[in-house]
Amino acid sequence: MSATAKEFAEVYRRFTAPLSKRVDCGSKCAPHNGGIPFCCDVDNAIPLVDKGEFQLLKSRTDMWTRLRPSTPSQRKEVKDLESSDSCAVKCKGVAHCERDNRSLACRAFPYFPYFDAEKNLVGLAHYWGFEGQCWVIHNPEVVDKKFVKEMIDSHEYLFLKDPDWAETFAENSASMRRVYSRRNKKFLILHRDGNQYWVLPYSGGKMVLAKTADVDKLKKGYPDAPATT
Ligand code: SF4
Ligand code: SF4
Repeated sequence: MSATAKEFAEVYRRFTAPLSKRVDCGSKCAPHNGGIPFCCDVDNAIPLVDKGEFQLLKSRTDMWTRLRPSTPSQRKEVKDLESSDSCAVKCKGVAHCERDNRSLACRAFPYFPYFDAEKNLVGLAHYWGFEGQCWVIHNPEVVDKKFVKEMIDSHEYLFLKDPDWAETFAENSASMRRVYSRRNKKFLILHRDGNQYWVLPYSGGKMVLAKTADVDKLKKGYPDAPATT
């Protein structure tokens, strides 16, 4: 059963921490996307909300409306959602962002709850489709421990109310292991114990503690800021 509006209000209450208190990551990625952070650009990332979450948002703000698809890929995404409990939405844009009324997807981006091969929720992994766009993915040292803790705590609450979400993220985690095994590369987990671990390819999801110097190599995957004129 889907979580209700009231239950989503509790999820929001538990998850208010910014991703990083030290860095405004939007200022790092926006220059690469015409001045708009990649995660706030509906042409790039369509926010999805559960019906209960949308009901809550509509009761709190006029910032969100249903997305009227205007491109073939948006039309496909909206059509694919027709039989699900989720809907595609659109906010008024970054200049009108109301921090307390961001969706759960906004709060969590670029991370999702990561489940190991035994389906234990062990930490956070990134949405790999945003590598090269989202600056945080390449600079994970800026992510605050409080963010990791609140994201896990709020999602554990959500999974109790709607176990399908846990299943979805467990499948996403398994997909990530497959994708990275095909690449023959390891990927990083922000573990709930406060450390960072690599998940090794072709290992059944084995994790090893990550060394800072090794994590720093992720920075090389992010393009230099475009020159300003
Ligand atoms: S989370 Fe990533 S995409 Fe979003 S503003 Fe920060 S760096 Fe940009
Ligand atoms: S609500 Fe705020 S954080 Fe979320 S997509 Fe809109 S501008 Fe970005």
